Amino acid sequence: TPNAIFHNEPFTDFTIAEERDDFLQALSNVKSKLGAHYPLLIGGESIYTEQRELVSLNPAEPEQVIGYVSKAGQEFAEHAMQNALSAFTLWSAVPAEQRAVVLLKAASLLRIRKHEFSAWLVYESGKNWAEADADTAEAIDFMEYYAREMIRLSETSVHQPLTSISGEDNKLKYIPLGVGVIIPPWNFPLAILAGMTSAAVVCGNTVVLKPASTTPVIAYQFCKLMKEAGVPNGVINYVPGSGAEIGDYLTLHPKTRFICFTGSKEVGLRINQLAAQTENGQIWIKRVIAEMGGKDGIVVDETADLPAAAVAIVNSAFGFQGQKCSAASRAIIVESVYDEVVSRIIELTRQLKVGLPEQNASVGPVIDENSFEQILEYIEIGKEEGKLVIGGEKVEGSGYMIQPAVFIDVDPKSRLMQEEIFGPVLAVTPARNWEEAIRVYNDTEFGLTGSFFSTNEVRIQEALNRMHCGNLYVNRKCTGALVGAHPFGGFNMSGTDSKAGGHDYLLLFTQAKLVSRKI
Ligand code: GLU
Repeated sequence: TPNAIFHNEPFTDFTIAEERDDFLQALSNVKSKLGAHYPLLIGGESIYTEQRELVSLNPAEPEQVIGYVSKAGQEFAEHAMQNALSAFTLWSAVPAEQRAVVLLKAASLLRIRKHEFSAWLVYESGKNWAEADADTAEAIDFMEYYAREMIRLSETSVHQPLTSISGEDNKLKYIPLGVGVIIPPWNFPLAILAGMTSAAVVCGNTVVLKPASTTPVIAYQFCKLMKEAGVPNGVINYVPGSGAEIGDYLTLHPKTRFICFTGSKEVGLRINQLAAQTENGQIWIKRVIAEMGGKDGIVVDETADLPAAAVAIVNSAFGFQGQKCSAASRAIIVESVYDEVVSRIIELTRQLKVGLPEQNASVGPVIDENSFEQILEYIEIGKEEGKLVIGGEKVEGSGYMIQPAVFIDVDPKSRLMQEEIFGPVLAVTPARNWEEAIRVYNDTEFGLTGSFFSTNEVRIQEALNRMHCGNLYVNRKCTGALVGAHPFGGFNMSGTDSKAGGHDYLLLFTQAKLVSRKI
């Protein structure tokens, strides 16, 4: 029920034989379904565009097709927009509590089919078991959390008490915006997609959802689940397609009320710019909610628990091959303990096994060929800018696998320390003391996540004030934010300062209407 207290979905313990067996079973079930054809979902219709399809591949074994996905051009994007517009009339009038109940139903269906969804993530996005399991758990969390948030928001006296005036009855009501375009990323192709979509929808908006082109099958599975949970036709319209063709078209569309995007800085800025134009017939300023890149870092001072710091750095740098906007791509270490922390980082990195996600290797492939080539280019740049101490080679085989790379003695102004690489590449740099280390940490256009490792309370307090990022952690890794506990989103070029999984998030998908009545 929406009134029960929110708890995070627990992660699966794969050391338990039964859990492992269940997961293996799910993998083999999903494997038998690979290579199917998927339609667009617009209104109540399934539309196959057989002559135009996206081919989703397993990045670990690109000869394996995950699915052939129908691809929308502008006509179908327009069709989806029209369906979303007409569904808005009905859906926006459904009471908030009922909309919340649909989300809770979806969450419980997903909980039942958890391993199946995680298995799709393993094959389509190249996540190992724990990463896939965490992605699915987070999707459940977002739906459970936003359902409760919608209830809270609809009880406006609780959310925002108004000053009482005699002779008046005053109420503030959060109403939906209209049709939103949802453009989720491929790196949390279930969790972030589910979070952005369910937040929009639970507020009474309807959406045109353009999934990432490398992970459209898991997106399809999610849309089917939402339909099964009772989301009416036309509320979520699934239209895979190219950004240049339909992403721009939908962003520019005069009936688009908001765009919710997670992805690269370049695409986020482009969306922001296109959304700022006013088209003929457009009667509002579009709202853009964008969560973009990061150049996140971990700072270690000489009082820190050094073994723990090294573990956190390696986990944050190489979890899911470094393809998280929260990933630690920089480590800034105080000189006097630099050599020791570096050698621990190298040792831990050496222990990482690169291999197939299906077999639960700790490190798997990067998402596609493009990304693979780009990361390898950065590794070449890194060889000029710093000293490569381990990794950086292509791994034998057809998959897009790269040995996790550690560069040391990298200048804070170098490209390796400034540009988001989104792959298994860590740049390490020494700093004279903790204060210089914090200055280096802040020397970035991004501001998403950061960690400070120290046992000195005065410094910790200073770091909390000075390190400028949306998610700042002390003595722990900088990835793995939990819904409700660590509202997620960053500053500056990391986006529009939104906080997914936090109390303020739904406000971004609503507008407040004040009603004052004389009594
Ligand atoms: N929320 C995730 C984390 O804390 C990162 C999300 C992202 O990479 O977009 O690790």
